[in-house]
Amino acid sequence: MPDFNKAVDPDRLTRFTRRLIQTPSLSREEEAISQVIQAEMEALGYDEVYTDELFNVVGIMKGDEPGPRLLFNGHIDHAGVGEMPDAFSGAIINGAPYGYDREVIYGRGASDMKAGVAAMVHAGAAARGLGFPRRGELIVTCVSREEIAQGEGIGHLLKNGLTADFAVSGEATGLKVYLGHRGKFEMRVTTQGRTTHGGFPSGGVNAIYKMNKVLNALQQDYELPEHPVLGPATVTVLDINASPGALSPIVPDRCNLIVDRRFLPEETEDGLLAGFQALLDAIKAQDPEFKATMEPLKWFPAMLTEPGEPVVQAMLRARETVMGQAGEVGNWYFGVDGTFISQAGIPCVGFGPGNEFLAHTPKDVVPVDQVITACQVYTALIADLCGTKAEK
Ligand SMILES: [Zn+2]
Repeated sequence: MPDFNKAVDPDRLTRFTRRLIQTPSLSREEEAISQVIQAEMEALGYDEVYTDELFNVVGIMKGDEPGPRLLFNGHIDHAGVGEMPDAFSGAIINGAPYGYDREVIYGRGASDMKAGVAAMVHAGAAARGLGFPRRGELIVTCVSREEIAQGEGIGHLLKNGLTADFAVSGEATGLKVYLGHRGKFEMRVTTQGRTTHGGFPSGGVNAIYKMNKVLNALQQDYELPEHPVLGPATVTVLDINASPGALSPIVPDRCNLIVDRRFLPEETEDGLLAGFQALLDAIKAQDPEFKATMEPLKWFPAMLTEPGEPVVQAMLRARETVMGQAGEVGNWYFGVDGTFISQAGIPCVGFGPGNEFLAHTPKDVVPVDQVITACQVYTALIADLCGTKAEK
């Protein structure tokens, strides 16, 4: 068995992770960080490296003979900084205030997901140091525009012919093997009333009071399905407003509600809308004055890779090889670019350093040792899937 631990250069990997965090890269502002990544891939001996017009960086390590193509995917943009102090310091600090008993790297994007990107890029070099990939190839994709849109960066690569047999998303999983996530559906519900003077409310119909019935129904009468791996579907509201507004004493004739519904892979947009319509119809049956419409706004697909998929089994083996245990499989609470890779027909598994619950928070850190361990596990995965052909 090759020594995956020794294959990784921990100091160089830590330096590279810090460098990525020190390079600001808001969505659509990824040019500088793409140059840092391209230069690192070239220095690490990738056989082919290129950056496209969206600043997606792709590095390829080729084996000696044809075989499985293994795709690593991470995004290089980060969420807004918000109130986070010194967000681009990349400092190595005591992890205690962040819930870790060891050193962490601090900075925006540490957990989401510059540490994952760094570990994936370095895994290609660590594998090459051990003579992998022997067959097939490793394709490391460091993509732009994940945070703002529906997988714009990865979508661009897939549209331009990127393909593979297996894929890994390096989004934070706390070094567990993840199978996917629920989908997200956002819609607007609007209730209609009739304006009247605020001093004479019984002369009209208050759209806010009508919306109150929707809010109660969502909390009390709306049934949500549950999934054995992805857990329960959820519903919540994100925003509410009424018009014409309180500048003059007028009872509003319009109230808008934004609903966030996390759905399971078997659910469809038509099915979700029908479920909400049934709730509205039930209110209407009790209140003939009730009038409401719905408008779908956003749809982000669910992702679920079956536990029996070879890439999941290989990831569990790689984790066991390096960490001693395959561990339990889990899922993200947020959506990742892996869903678009899955939809392109490439089975995708999740594994990455960092705690997903620190993503987008002012406590954005990643433990140093998790970055190194992640890189070792990725290296073991490359050796497993792109190693010597099994004897028949
Ligand atoms: Zn992310």
